[in-house]
Amino acid sequence: MKRFEKPEDLAINGAPPAFEKVLHVGRPNIADRAMFDNYVDRIWESGWLTNNGPMVQELEEKITEYLGVKHCVAMCNGTIALEIAIRALGLEGEVIVPSFTFIATAHALSWQGIQPVFADIDPVTHNLDPDSVRAAITTNTTGILGVHLWGRPSPIADLQAIADEYGLKLMFDAAHAFGCTYKGVSIGNFGECEVLSFHATKFFNTFEGGAVVTNDDSLAEQMRLMRNFGFSGLDNVIYHGTNGKMTEVSAAMGLSNLLVIDAVLKKNKENYLAYKAHLENIEGIKLIQYSGTEHFNYQYIVVDVGVDSPLTRDKIISMLNAENVLARKYFWPGCHNMAPYRDLQPHASLRLPVTNSVAERIIILPTGVNIGDDEISVISALIRFICDDSVTLENIIR
Ligand SMILES: *Cc1c(COP(=O)(O)O)cnc(C)c1O
Repeated sequence: MKRFEKPEDLAINGAPPAFEKVLHVGRPNIADRAMFDNYVDRIWESGWLTNNGPMVQELEEKITEYLGVKHCVAMCNGTIALEIAIRALGLEGEVIVPSFTFIATAHALSWQGIQPVFADIDPVTHNLDPDSVRAAITTNTTGILGVHLWGRPSPIADLQAIADEYGLKLMFDAAHAFGCTYKGVSIGNFGECEVLSFHATKFFNTFEGGAVVTNDDSLAEQMRLMRNFGFSGLDNVIYHGTNGKMTEVSAAMGLSNLLVIDAVLKKNKENYLAYKAHLENIEGIKLIQYSGTEHFNYQYIVVDVGVDSPLTRDKIISMLNAENVLARKYFWPGCHNMAPYRDLQPHASLRLPVTNSVAERIIILPTGVNIGDDEISVISALIRFICDDSVTLENIIR
């Protein structure tokens, strides 16, 4: 840490980067290789590669147990899972969504001819603001698609009350929220259904994968048909469907990752607490809170760069990048500022002041099983050094 004593010590000023190897955001949490190999051996023995095989069925069962939900319908990825859920719920016309989310949330609607109507978010939780949702309702609105961003639950009770009042369907994009809770109840139990992503970067992964979880029997049955071209039995198509099936090897990865999920959670939480301790009292820098009595998966280390920060968010990111810390902006500049929505809804920005502001302020830092205590203390020291205004800015900005 001796390196960070003078402005000249920064890579951006010509010194070698703080880390020899690049530290990435979203490096996968991977289970023990031997565990995975055991499951793969079973695939070789059964010769069953896909089409609702024994691994997929076992994974679905384990997930329903883990989350305490009635049904888990595993899919090839979270985006197809969203599309199937949206279709199974019969959504059409307009559906209200946050703009501050991964683009797949909006695309899953517009891909099937539904207009995503963007509502604003709360500046602290980054989740949908119920008042903004209410203001976005029109006679064409059929549903609300909430997102539990960073694994922190949406204001579920308020959204459910609005949905009930206007006769709308409520569903959730729970891609970030595997293992998280709302009022002590596991995510997966809310709205009509909730959609999980098991993409490699997520807390729990199956290489690529996803699922819809629900307590509604007939909805689950409908989605099982849709996931498999509408086949009911060998030769009988009784429904309009697509191919949303999860492969056996993905399920094997999921089963082996489930075996170590407690260890991954423990590591994520330790990492979060380490960042929290190291990043205290830096002007303009605030780590988002995972506080209170809920369970979280701590998969995202989110720093909010305030207006009082002496440096802009982008400047801080570029300086961290120069040190081989591949800190990222996430969900910038908001779905409403990306194609095709930017052109289709040119005035959406006017309704989204908080989204616009938050999207300019967020930095995501590396975490997960691949990051250690030493790395976190060096990353934090860099941020403190970069942001401390006792270091004159002329020296560290090229
Ligand atoms: C990752 C993600 C998705 C998409 O999931 P895939 O499995 O990558 O298709 C959807 N919504 C959010 C909020 C996500 O983070």
